[in-house]
Amino acid sequence: MSVTVRYAPSPTGKLHLGNARPAVLNWLYAKRSGGTFVFRLDDTDTARSTEAFAQGIETDLAWLGTTPDVKVRQSDRLALYDAARDRLIAEGRLYPAYETADELDRKRKRARAAGRPPIYDRAALELSDEDRTRLEAEGRKPHWRFKLDGRAVHFEDLIKGEQTVNTASMSDPVLIREDGSYLYTFTSVVDDIDLGITHVIRGEDHVSNTGTQIEIFEAMGAKAPVFGHHNLLTDADGQGLSKRLGSLSLEQLREDGYEPLAVAIMASITGTSLPVEPYESLEAIADKLDFSMISRGSARFDPAELATLNARMVHAMDFATVTDRIGAIDGLDEQVWMVLRENVSRLSELAPLYRELFIDARPVMADEDAEFIATARDLLPPEPWDESTWGAWTSVLKERTGRKGKALFLPLRLALTGKSEGPELKALLPLLGRKVSLDRLA
Ligand code: GLU
Repeated sequence: MSVTVRYAPSPTGKLHLGNARPAVLNWLYAKRSGGTFVFRLDDTDTARSTEAFAQGIETDLAWLGTTPDVKVRQSDRLALYDAARDRLIAEGRLYPAYETADELDRKRKRARAAGRPPIYDRAALELSDEDRTRLEAEGRKPHWRFKLDGRAVHFEDLIKGEQTVNTASMSDPVLIREDGSYLYTFTSVVDDIDLGITHVIRGEDHVSNTGTQIEIFEAMGAKAPVFGHHNLLTDADGQGLSKRLGSLSLEQLREDGYEPLAVAIMASITGTSLPVEPYESLEAIADKLDFSMISRGSARFDPAELATLNARMVHAMDFATVTDRIGAIDGLDEQVWMVLRENVSRLSELAPLYRELFIDARPVMADEDAEFIATARDLLPPEPWDESTWGAWTSVLKERTGRKGKALFLPLRLALTGKSEGPELKALLPLLGRKVSLDRLA
């Protein structure tokens, strides 16, 4: 059986790292099994969905490298849902209900007060045709509920193992709103059947939905797919990441210059038994990550871990990859990159660092170092220069001035770069060259 998975976000907001987890996990699963990755926009909630969010999600997926094989959006597929609706109505599995939100609220309160669980009492099932005609004549429009079997629904979760959801303790879910629009619980099942989805991989906040949806699959005469519910990314306090959406939106991470692969690694490897470390590519993660490695406990995300991982990846990056990622920077060649890379933790820092050292550097010189710097200038060796130049120059200086350690090196760094820290001077000096060095020491 060939595998087909889907990632199905609603375009009602920006994707953040927590939403990237199911995107990456689904992509990896498809890759690992030679299957198909479907991207489905769940945009039936027209009040909250926007085209800008939909575009943003596509941009984010392309950036992450989790490009889909197939793209669909629910708003293009309404005829399919209409047909499924008619079928379930004909079979008596969808029934109209007329209670207002207030009436439902009162019912729930009464149930609680009487010590009963606040589940829908199915009063609408008792309505006669006349009752319905009367209610509609009053101007009420029905919403439609799915009549649950009310049983223990068992399934073997790909990640969490055997699961049971008791639908007897649930209200019959509303699948169609008063205005005729469909709810995700329903459209998702219709699409999963139509698109031949074999595996539904999504967050564990959907486990009880799965009980309901398995019943809908069966009511539609279909076999339910395999389900896999992964742990959700949380912050250090165990809170959901959506609360911190701002700083961790994929758009923001992109603007902050993070590597998309570092973000994909964090999104998928956090909360598994694999170590968070550089991988060469998404394919390399797919080779390693078996879903049995996803922990059943929480997946705590530490922003410092992302920063460290990103820096490790940047430090090991070759020049061609850098140019691929951010384009050419005038004057910055491979040699310069090799000297600067240890000082760059995100590629967005590269151009400013280059400018700072090679173009805008303003030498800094304390009065008490003026004589020392003048001597240093006089002793600057003739070119050609290489990595041994710095050592040769500073040992003569040491001998001549009696300075050593910080007193020797810091004034030279400040004069040559204007900064108290930066790349190794023995590597930087030959790149600056004698002429520039003479100017800065003047
Ligand atoms: N649109 C749903 C959501 O964003 C999809 C869940 C699912 O994968 O079934 O939660």
